[in-house]
Amino acid sequence: MDEERFPNAAPEFGCPICGHSTPVPVLAKNGYTIACCAACSVLHVSPIPSNEMLQAHYQDPSYFSGPEEQGYQSYSAMRKALIPHFKRRLAVVRSQVPTGGRLLDFGCAAGYFLDVARSEGWQIAGVELSQEMARRASDMLSIPIASSLDSLPDGDFDAICLWEVIEHLPRPIAELRLLRDRLRPGGLLMLSTPNTGHWQAKRQPDGWIGYRPPSHLVFFDERTLADALARAGFDRVTITRVSPLPPLPNWLRDLTAPLQRGLSTGQARAWPVALMAWRATRLLGWGWQMLRHPGDDIFATLEAVAFRSA
Ligand SMILES: [Zn+2]
Repeated sequence: MDEERFPNAAPEFGCPICGHSTPVPVLAKNGYTIACCAACSVLHVSPIPSNEMLQAHYQDPSYFSGPEEQGYQSYSAMRKALIPHFKRRLAVVRSQVPTGGRLLDFGCAAGYFLDVARSEGWQIAGVELSQEMARRASDMLSIPIASSLDSLPDGDFDAICLWEVIEHLPRPIAELRLLRDRLRPGGLLMLSTPNTGHWQAKRQPDGWIGYRPPSHLVFFDERTLADALARAGFDRVTITRVSPLPPLPNWLRDLTAPLQRGLSTGQARAWPVALMAWRATRLLGWGWQMLRHPGDDIFATLEAVAFRSA
């Protein structure tokens, strides 16, 4: 734990999903312990850092333009890489809520997803904890961005989205219940989060980018994510694995590292060519994986769709 940066820490104890206080340590990372709950088997940072520590972490400007190990090297440069994901996810939301309506992006960062949603006809609202990111989103979209759910009325939204947010929440169940209340009856919640079932999380946990305390606090696989949504009172939960990232032979991984980095940061030159090259590389990796470790889960991300009961 970073005592210098987070003085007077007052850690809370217990599992952030089920409340049990029987964590079994499984990994040390960044000076934090990641533990498995003996009761519900979710992985989580133990103990969960205090609100004061987390507030300080997210108000630090380096979070969105600092070392990738904690936040993002340059969130603004990633826009190009994010837009296709956002369009695909919006298509999933639209398929379930064909009438459209009001959409909330919880943890909206600089507002890129909201911008795409509005261009597709949604009435948009955003919540963002980082003041700097909220200011950027508000400037770009010309709408106020709330710092919490407190100011938003119950039953107001047709759809609520959380992209790579739930793993940051120290009390995900309480927060998910508040989000459920903000949905109209029958409204949809869709979220994404890193998949701890991924082969690298299992076989090379030290190198897996998803284990990133204190930014990431709770770590889900398909089962524990479905369990969390059910505990928070959601119905008709569907979990989908996306973003296949098969292991690559070392020579191929090293050869294509600049390509992958350029695409993930949005800085790749000749974008369509780079994208095609990376897709071809992934296909090769898939073949390699099928031969070497046919049982491995190669999907880096989980996406969940769930509904507030009508
Ligand atoms: Zn638990």
